[in-house]
Amino acid sequence: MKTAMSGLVKKIVKTIKVDLDKCNGCRACEIACAAYHANPRYSSFNPSRARVRVVIDERNDEWVAIRSTGYAKAECDGRRVYTIKGKEYSECSFCGNACPARDLFKEPDSGLALKCDMCGDDPNQIPLCVQICSRDALTYEVTEKEVEEQIKPNEMEIGLESLADRYGLDKIMSAVARMAQQGAGVEAER
Ligand code: SF4
Ligand code: SF4
Ligand code: SF4
Repeated sequence: MKTAMSGLVKKIVKTIKVDLDKCNGCRACEIACAAYHANPRYSSFNPSRARVRVVIDERNDEWVAIRSTGYAKAECDGRRVYTIKGKEYSECSFCGNACPARDLFKEPDSGLALKCDMCGDDPNQIPLCVQICSRDALTYEVTEKEVEEQIKPNEMEIGLESLADRYGLDKIMSAVARMAQQGAGVEAER
């Protein structure tokens, strides 16, 4: 029985590039994101509700704007430490997970994970964090890719397929033709 097909589908990929050399840690991106996602929109600007947070590493005199990637059940058992130009950075500094290891990316009242939604579905909408960044540390790009994806036959296809298996395609086709004729007759009587 046919259960799934695969094929190439076009997919829009939105990217925000972060230039750490340009970021000065002003945190305007946090405020813009929080305000855009407030309910009603722009009614508050609490950074702890933002889906982008500036991770501050004072040891390294470094600020990293990280977008949230959503809920993680557990903190990592093994973590990497990156050495960049002689300075050490913890993996957590670049991680967008709302995990038990820290308070970042959790809605302060409910504790639910916050996740960046790229400010909606419209690829032409420049995300608010990018719009507000006066240092051009954030840049937005949209690309179209062709990806292999499994396409599940919808329910009607599955239903027709099983009817055809049971009664034969000819019987199904003549039944459909009969029903179409009856439908046309009803329309004519109206
Ligand atoms: S608005 Fe730009 S410069 Fe300011 S913290 Fe965010 S990324 Fe950095
Ligand atoms: S913040 Fe990220 S890297 Fe660090 S423990 Fe949590 S999931 Fe792992
Ligand atoms: S893209 Fe939108 S939702 Fe994501 S961090 Fe930026 S402002 Fe927030």
